[in-house]
Amino acid sequence: MTEKVTKSDSEWREELTPEQFDVTRQKGTEPAFTGEYWDNHEKGVYRCRCCGTELFSSDHKFESGSGWPSFWKPAVSDNVATEEDNSHHMQRTEALCKQCDAHLGHVFEDGPQPTGLRYCINSASLKFDKK
Ligand code: FE
Repeated sequence: MTEKVTKSDSEWREELTPEQFDVTRQKGTEPAFTGEYWDNHEKGVYRCRCCGTELFSSDHKFESGSGWPSFWKPAVSDNVATEEDNSHHMQRTEALCKQCDAHLGHVFEDGPQPTGLRYCINSASLKFDKK
């Protein structure tokens, strides 16, 4: 693991669109069915929008019907951190980039086998690298 990426909010604002900043640095959520990748079926790797770390793969993407890109596991499990999130009167598990603490989305236990997990991820947190 390389060193953690830490930048100030003003540095992040310079590098990100307002929506990307809101989602990744302020734990926002893009509206369903509006993001770049929920309906992306190309083969490739999904990296952190903020720091480029490899997070998810098209190999583990599935149709969840939620309107957000959904994966049943991370491409590199060490690169995705999870934390309890009790905001908005809900008990959820938040998914974050381990490298730069970007908010990615949430993990739910209603995904397909073999993991039974659904990583519900904002497109705004991702950058797709086509294979
Ligand atoms: Fe990151």
